[in-house]
Amino acid sequence: KVEASVVYTSTTEDFFQILVLLYDVTEIYAVEKMQMDFISNASHELKTPVTAISGFAETLLAGAKDDPETLTEFLGIIQRESRRLTELIQDVLAISRIESQSVSTQNRTQVDVAALVTEQENVMQQLAAMKQLRVIDQVPATAQQYTDEKKLTQIVKNLLSNAIKYNREGGSVTVAYQADDTNWSLSVTDTGIGIAQAEQARIFERFYRVDPSRNKQVVSGTGLGLAIVSELVKSLNGQISVTSQRGVGSTFTVQFPVTVAGDAESMAAN
Ligand code: ADP
Repeated sequence: KVEASVVYTSTTEDFFQILVLLYDVTEIYAVEKMQMDFISNASHELKTPVTAISGFAETLLAGAKDDPETLTEFLGIIQRESRRLTELIQDVLAISRIESQSVSTQNRTQVDVAALVTEQENVMQQLAAMKQLRVIDQVPATAQQYTDEKKLTQIVKNLLSNAIKYNREGGSVTVAYQADDTNWSLSVTDTGIGIAQAEQARIFERFYRVDPSRNKQVVSGTGLGLAIVSELVKSLNGQISVTSQRGVGSTFTVQFPVTVAGDAESMAAN
């Protein structure tokens, strides 16, 4: 799409001059549209739990609270929807935060990648245990990289949480690490439901979730986890990729260029 603006006109006795500038605004519109879509999707998603919470509270106050069974059931729904609301707000804020740091703000330090991964595995231990999942940590204890610890923590947290959520009972989650002089990567492999080829590009879109009716169990989520991961990875000049087969499992890999303190890149970002 092209927009034009007249920046200069002049008339003399003999001439009529006009200078017109043409801009290609395709990209500007695309970004604006994405932001508008995000706001409209976010409002819609946020309204759903709020409507449920106020609706069930009203019904209770109108008299349903006098039946103990209904009271317990409705309070349970209110609690569940409040948790969902909290999750949504956290994810929406995370996206806005990443977006507002337009010049990729990085806070790089020497990070013990092995310890960071172990810590996140411990945080998720209970969730994994609930599905009898085996967590296999193949990150060597010496794994260290000069990177942004907060961003890497969020990336690992979201990938691990998905590998658990979309796994089968008794399956496994494997975290692996690879590094050479120029690049390093982390991968999270699960033995879960997998993702059809046609969906693999879309799962990184904000609010996109694979049709839940195709999964037997309905898994809770906001549809923002992978969008957050992919934006964080981009802001660290990295890349994310997925390989997956339905019914077998998925591997998500994040790869980053190796940086050292004093690098032009990390200096510019700090
Ligand atoms: P959420 O998990 O909150 O729905 P995400 O952005 O993290 O949102 O993921 C988007 C969708 O991608 C999920 O709803 C799910 O359908 C699919 N997905 C993500 N990770 C996996 C995985 N490890 N295995 C299978 N499907 C996955």
